[in-house]
Amino acid sequence: MNENNLDIFDKHESEVRSYVRGFPTVFHQAKGYKLWDMDEKEYIDFFSGAGALNYGHNDENMKQKLLEYIQEDGIAHSLDMASKTKGEFLEKFHEVILEPRDLNYKVMFPGPTGTNSVESALKLARKVTGRTNVISFTNGFHGMTIGALSVTGNAFKRNGAGIPLHHSFTMPFDNYMENTGQEIAYIERLLDDNGSGVELPAAIILETVQGEGGLNAARMEWLQSIERICRERNILLIIDDVQAGVGRTGTFFSFEPAGIKPDIVCLSKSIGGYGLPLALTLIHPDYDKFEPGEHNGTFRGNNMAFVTGTEALNYWKDDQLEKSIQEKSDRIYTFLTDMIEKYPKLKGTHRGRGFMQGIASDVDGLADKVTEKCFEHGLIMETAGSDDEVFKLFPPITIDDEGLNKGLAILEKAIEETAE
Ligand code: PMP
Repeated sequence: MNENNLDIFDKHESEVRSYVRGFPTVFHQAKGYKLWDMDEKEYIDFFSGAGALNYGHNDENMKQKLLEYIQEDGIAHSLDMASKTKGEFLEKFHEVILEPRDLNYKVMFPGPTGTNSVESALKLARKVTGRTNVISFTNGFHGMTIGALSVTGNAFKRNGAGIPLHHSFTMPFDNYMENTGQEIAYIERLLDDNGSGVELPAAIILETVQGEGGLNAARMEWLQSIERICRERNILLIIDDVQAGVGRTGTFFSFEPAGIKPDIVCLSKSIGGYGLPLALTLIHPDYDKFEPGEHNGTFRGNNMAFVTGTEALNYWKDDQLEKSIQEKSDRIYTFLTDMIEKYPKLKGTHRGRGFMQGIASDVDGLADKVTEKCFEHGLIMETAGSDDEVFKLFPPITIDDEGLNKGLAILEKAIEETAE
């Protein structure tokens, strides 16, 4: 394939593809925060593979480790047998991530994707508690298989299941009732209403910042209240950090600033470091109750992803990256709030935190127009929210000042052209 031509995809591929449609070109190379298409046009990446490329494209150290590993005929696929690379990953994950944060988890490899991690968490919570229902939240997103979809607060996605989805109930996420602060009281009132036959759930599952659902960021006090609700009623707390984790919000785990300790944590996307598929389910030792074989799968533990994932953990050996994300996040916040003020036609509201911020526009279709303009000018950006009302800044967390400034300049130009 030598030309920048989408015909081949039109001819052979099902209509299901979404990102090709969103970005009408054919990409072939990428490095750091940059991508190039077949016409050698350069794009800045404010999308980061929906969070699978937090460290950017083709990180040099990870690439070298991977090349060495392949050169030496390192074992590529070993099902769930013990392998050298898996051992190295486990040791380093404990040493660099869990121990310094005083977190005590067993690590399970549930399958290659975020959805696999969510499925394993839901199953385990039900098995451990013997209860059926799970509480999830308005606008939450947890994956596309039937279990994960049943806790996903998106009617369009749920429709894809073709059948009604059961055994979950949706509660209001933080700030759902627009600054009334009543969400926690509502949840507690319902949970304690035995008279109405409300059943105690096995678990509460949530994202601290809702990635697909529109960058709604829960406040730390809200997260602490949810943890208290769980502890008081013996409900398991599952944090889905598939998108908000691995540094996206400024700390390795998104829940760190709240000081909470979930019973189960779902991780995927950037945990493999290089865009290679890997997922983890972190399980408090008290709940490590699957029997061998009760949850398995062919691609549990990809050795290539262990090699790059282990190398990626070096970024967390000191606080340099954290500091850089936090400093740049403040600049993104200032930029976005300035845009909202400068361009009133945006009818914009700021959303999110860390490296997952954006603007929700009250003007129908405007967020889509902004991202289309961005694409024209060489910036890759996606929308989020149930009506695609949010344009979402999602740069690699390793982006330098030059890349960030260039991307923000294109975004301002796109906003200017759409909301003047
Ligand atoms: N949970 C969250 C919060 C996600 O954002 C996603 C993916 N967007 C998933 C689960 C599912 O992950 P995957 O697509 O790897 O199955």
